Amino acid sequence: MVGSQPAKQPQPSLSPEQIATFTQAVAQYIRAQRAHYYPRAVPLSFSELWSRFFPAVDLQRIRVIQPGQARVPNPPFYAELEQLGFTGLPNFTTMGAITFDDVVVFHEPLTPQLIFHEMVHIVQYRLLGIDDFARLYVRGYLHGGYDGTPLEVCAYELDGRFIMGSVGFDVEAEVRAWIVNGRF
Ligand SMILES: [Zn+2]
Repeated sequence: MVGSQPAKQPQPSLSPEQIATFTQAVAQYIRAQRAHYYPRAVPLSFSELWSRFFPAVDLQRIRVIQPGQARVPNPPFYAELEQLGFTGLPNFTTMGAITFDDVVVFHEPLTPQLIFHEMVHIVQYRLLGIDDFARLYVRGYLHGGYDGTPLEVCAYELDGRFIMGSVGFDVEAEVRAWIVNGRF
């Protein structure tokens, strides 16, 4: 996801059981969204430049919904989180783009940096699987909010290193290093 977020306020803490339930709801939500958008999503064609950063498997599996084709509403579990006292949850409707496994719904026009950011998430999803991605996203969010979620920190860090004309770097190796070093 890409988007600016409201200032952080103290958030309620959840019990391990609540975290487990929430994590399951997020994983289920990601699968449902992916299934919902996949039939209308189309591949992207990439110039040779992109293979300096991403493995062919991810460049081939990405599917996109172009801006104006859909707007992702906030997840159904937001109501419950707000009842629990959460505030400032990321507003999906104003996000630049949202990735569900291999499907990216773009709300804003596709730029190389925005595509790069979401491609990093696609690599994360493949290496972690949806369940671990959801578990780590929830854990990261509960500790640090959207801006402090390591899966996002990683994607922003790598998209910040992306320069169109550069020789490239191995995004998969970078994401693997984050996994091996327990940074997510
Ligand atoms: Zn993101």
